Amino acid sequence: MLIIHHPAAMTAWAKEQAKAGRSIALVPTMGYFHEGHLSLMRTAARHADVVAVSLFVNPTQFGPQEDLAAYPRNFERDQAMAEGAGVQVLFAPEAADMYPAGFCTTVTVGKELTDQLCGASRPGHFAGVATVVCKLFQIVRPDAAVFGEKDFQQLAVIRRMTADLNLGVEIVAHPTVREEDGLAMSSRNTYLAPSQREAALSLSRAIALARKMAAEGERSAERLTAELRDFIHSFPATAVDYISFVDQDSLRPAEEIDAQTVLALAVKIGGKVRLIDNGKVLA
Ligand code: AMP
Repeated sequence: MLIIHHPAAMTAWAKEQAKAGRSIALVPTMGYFHEGHLSLMRTAARHADVVAVSLFVNPTQFGPQEDLAAYPRNFERDQAMAEGAGVQVLFAPEAADMYPAGFCTTVTVGKELTDQLCGASRPGHFAGVATVVCKLFQIVRPDAAVFGEKDFQQLAVIRRMTADLNLGVEIVAHPTVREEDGLAMSSRNTYLAPSQREAALSLSRAIALARKMAAEGERSAERLTAELRDFIHSFPATAVDYISFVDQDSLRPAEEIDAQTVLALAVKIGGKVRLIDNGKVLA
C-alpha cells in the first residue's frame, strides 16, 4: 500500500490511474479505524478498480469547544488495518498542505440541509465537511466515494453538494456497522468510560423502541419524541441534544412518520461524549 502525504503527489497518482484506465473509489475518513471504516473500504473495492482512503482530521469541521486536539489518532495501526482491507493508497495530508497560507474558499450547502440536527449545535461543521470533501474529490479524482449512513446528515449534504456542483462522483451509502449489542461503531466510542457504555446503548435502544411503537400503530412524531426522550433520560448521565423525525432526503421534519422518515438522534453521555445514531422506523 502506498502512503501519500502531499496533495500534488496524490493527484499525480490519480492521473496515472486514469491514464491506465483504472477507476478509483475514495473513502474519506478521520482515521482511528474500526470495523465500520474497514467495511466501507471493502465496499469501495467493489465499486472501482483501486481504492484510496484519505485520513485527515479536518480542523475546519471542529468547533472551538470541540475535540480536535483530543480526537483519537494511531497512524501505524490505521496503516496496517487499511493495508489488510486491500487499500491501494492511504492519503494522509498535513493541515498546512490542505489549507496553505491565503486559503479563503468555503463550500456551504444550503441551510435547508445544514441548520438543523447536528448543524444546530455545531455551527460551521457542515461547511467544513463540504469544503474538505470537495477538495478531496478534486485531489483524488474518484469515480465513486463511499460514506456511512451513520453520519446521515453528512451523507445528505455530500449528495446535495455533489449534484449541485456537478462533481461527477458516484456517492455510495453504506449501512451503519454496529457492535453486537447495537452500539453504532464510532472512533468517539473510545471516549466512553466503562460505566458509560450502558448509557451509550440508549441511542440504538431508542431506535428499537420507536420501531416497536410504530409497528403497534403509532405515527405521531410528537408522541414518539416525548416517549423516546423519557426513555433515553432513564439511562444515567444522558442528555438529549436532539430527537428528530425527518424526511430522508430533504431532512424536513415529519409530523406523521412514514416509510421515508428517518429518526435521527444525538445524545451527550456524561456531559462530554456526544454520540449520534439514526435509522428508519417503518420498513
Ligand atoms: P469518520 O472517520 O468518523 O469521519 O468516518 C469516516 C466514514 O466512515 C464516514 O463516511 C462515516 O459515516 C463512516 N462511518 C463511521 N462509523 C461508521 C459505522 N459505524 N458504520 C458505517 N459507517 C461508518
